[in-house]
Amino acid sequence: MSVKGKTAIVTGSNSGIGLGIATEFAKAGMNVVLNSFTDRDEDHKLAEKMASEHGVDVRYVQADMSKADECRALIEKAGACDVLVNNAGIQHVAPIPEFPQEKWDAIIAINLSSAFHTTAAALPVMRKAGWGRVINIASAHGLTASPYKSAYVAAKHGVVGLTKVTALETAEEPITANAICPGYVLTPLVEAQIPDTMKEYDMSREDVIKNVMLKRQPSKEFATVEQLGGTALYLCSDAAAQVTGTTISVDGGWTAL
Ligand code: NAD
Repeated sequence: MSVKGKTAIVTGSNSGIGLGIATEFAKAGMNVVLNSFTDRDEDHKLAEKMASEHGVDVRYVQADMSKADECRALIEKAGACDVLVNNAGIQHVAPIPEFPQEKWDAIIAINLSSAFHTTAAALPVMRKAGWGRVINIASAHGLTASPYKSAYVAAKHGVVGLTKVTALETAEEPITANAICPGYVLTPLVEAQIPDTMKEYDMSREDVIKNVMLKRQPSKEFATVEQLGGTALYLCSDAAAQVTGTTISVDGGWTAL
């Protein structure tokens, strides 16, 4: 079955990996619903530009993924949901005793609970359509840990668990659920971590990238948003119809160490 004409909702898709996945979907002829918590002209213009470049229907729907009712409303407002990509995410880095409680709550809400709420609203829509793909953007930190990222690592391990349960509950239907686990990808989320790390280790930008960030990524290269888009597209293909409840690492060998 071709993905052409299918509708994909990608949460947190006005930048970074979400935007990269949405772009690869649009290139393949899928209609796309872009999302973030903002409602700026540039968000809607981004959708218009993607639609005209690829000749597909692209809409921007504002919804705050930290709020359960807005997560569920996003699926309803989209009108269709053949493919759901749970991608919205934030990061905060601090040792556990100093980790701000509100940051913990926000990371768990946006990086983990949002995927539960959107999935709960999307599965009945997929069942009605007789086909569906749930793709959760976890992380290498969904499979392994790093110090100072307690909330992020806990949320991403939770996303991997949620993915397995979603797969089991849909196993006898033409619906699959999988998690993509990227290593480091140079997006605004990662870019924002560079200045603090430079200060912390008294290092240059180049040293931080090579010797801190990519220290655990054996390829010594960032993964790209296009590669993640290609992986998501594969999970939508017929070839992946029996791939469910699993994780696909796109991490330059990080989790092989
Ligand atoms: P990014 O900051 O570029 O993108 C995050 C997206 O989430 C943005 O579109 C942002 O607007 C959106 N977002 C944030 N809070 C939101 C909210 N409350 N409601 C709706 N949208 C919200 O970051 P990214 O690197 O592209 O990250 C995307 C996903 O990939 C995240 O889940 C992240 O954990 C995961 N990831 C990233 C990397 C990496 O190296 N960049 C590695 C592994 C996993």
